[in-house]
Amino acid sequence: MTVSLVKEKLLIDGEWIDTDQTHKIYNKYTNELFTEISKADEKMVDKAVEGAFKAYKKENFPPQQRYKVLMKTAELLLEKLEEIAKIIAQEGGKPITEARTEVRRSVSTFQMAAEESKRLVGEIIPNYNAEGRFIYTVKKPVGVVVAITPFNFPLNLVSHKVAPALAAGNPVIIKPASDTATTTIKLSEILVEAGVPKGYLHCLVGSGSVVGEQLLQDERIAHYTFTGSPEVGKHIQKTIGFRKATLELGANSATIVHHDGDIEAAASKLAKMAFANAGQICISVQRIYVQESIRERFLEMFLHQVSLLKVGDPLDPETNVGPMISGKEVARIESWVKEAELQGANIEIGGKREGNIFYPTVLTNVTGDMKVLREETFAPVVSVIPYDTIEEAIDMVNDSKYGLQAGIYTKDLALTYKIPYLLEVGGVIINDTCCYRIDQMPYGGVKESGLGKEGPAFAIKELVEDITVVVNLE
Ligand code: NDP
Repeated sequence: MTVSLVKEKLLIDGEWIDTDQTHKIYNKYTNELFTEISKADEKMVDKAVEGAFKAYKKENFPPQQRYKVLMKTAELLLEKLEEIAKIIAQEGGKPITEARTEVRRSVSTFQMAAEESKRLVGEIIPNYNAEGRFIYTVKKPVGVVVAITPFNFPLNLVSHKVAPALAAGNPVIIKPASDTATTTIKLSEILVEAGVPKGYLHCLVGSGSVVGEQLLQDERIAHYTFTGSPEVGKHIQKTIGFRKATLELGANSATIVHHDGDIEAAASKLAKMAFANAGQICISVQRIYVQESIRERFLEMFLHQVSLLKVGDPLDPETNVGPMISGKEVARIESWVKEAELQGANIEIGGKREGNIFYPTVLTNVTGDMKVLREETFAPVVSVIPYDTIEEAIDMVNDSKYGLQAGIYTKDLALTYKIPYLLEVGGVIINDTCCYRIDQMPYGGVKESGLGKEGPAFAIKELVEDITVVVNLE
């Protein structure tokens, strides 16, 4: 066991601040104290906003410097890969191999954002019907950006907000998830070491309902970039009025396994992706729709693959499924599974808990009114549902308040062209699971899954204002 006994400080306006009030973070597998972090109070939140606002007004972070800082951050992250991966594994419960992947992804998120800082060019507007006028646009940073982030990717999802915001020239205030804030403090230290100018980065630890709420109320903030639950996302949108937000919210994502798909590949990949990070991924595979003619064969292969998953200590490189984020969350999913069972669902495998671990669970005989299908489970629980026609499968995928991503395994070329227009989701993954993401692709949902896209080049579009300039040449 590795316990960090250092008390972590907050980053406010270029200074590391120590406070009397602390926030405790626990190791999610052993439940032992992992770190203590200084907690922000009202005055500190105000000081951070003031510092960020002043930095925005001064505009002293030109694109070439942004590029250098972001590239240096990527380099330092790579150097500290093992140290940071271990922090993620302990405070987040993520298996160490996945935690290492998260750090590597974050390195490339920073590199891609650095490249984007060189491409912030406007457009020349054709002067048809506007003789004597030269019209063009420039891209201007939107202003102070607040990044509010969830626990499940405490490094890469923070990177997806901080890197594009800085690449676009905006000062950023981070309010990380309280459960996994040590990782974000480490990222902030790296950004400072990489040379981020004073005022351009602040990291405030404290509860969402206090620190987050104060940030929502402050009119000096121009843009909120949020990843988290739909409830908080809706609350943010309602509170901030005309100011803008990028919202990456929840889902109960589905993958279709059609009769002509590669069933073996589907069974093995779906077993991996339904349980990665203990199912606590926004695009986790929660619903698998399988055509009736191949259902039995698929289920047999799938259950075999699930039975091979190793459950246990996230620091063990052999572990595939570690603990969930809290005992409360384990109790929630345990009660949902029990409720489904009482309503007639079959537990094919799993369904039991041990400490903060919920065993990989596969359900069949589920119906649309059960919570395990209708709501976001955000847990290692997946349901397998049969269908007859593809139209029926598409209707069932769309029968959801969410719409983040969907996957389909099929060799039918015509269907692969048609289906993106038929599914109500922000991304369609063909011959892979709904849980596929690489960091450069545009990523974001429809319906209650959110507003706006991430992926550095796409996030930046939301973080700059296009200013139109008209020059009278006469
Ligand atoms: P939460 O919504 O509970 O928390 C997210 C962040 O919001 C935390 O930093 C939290 O602070 C903060 N917060 C809570 N209340 C408020 C408030 N009133 N005002 C401002 N901020 C507030 O989400 P989780 O951390 O539990 O993450 C799980 C959710 O995130 C799932 O629904 C999942 O689907 C979604 N998600 C979506 C992704 C996407 O890209 N679409 C990716 C990953 C996750 P604190 O921690 O202090 O409570």
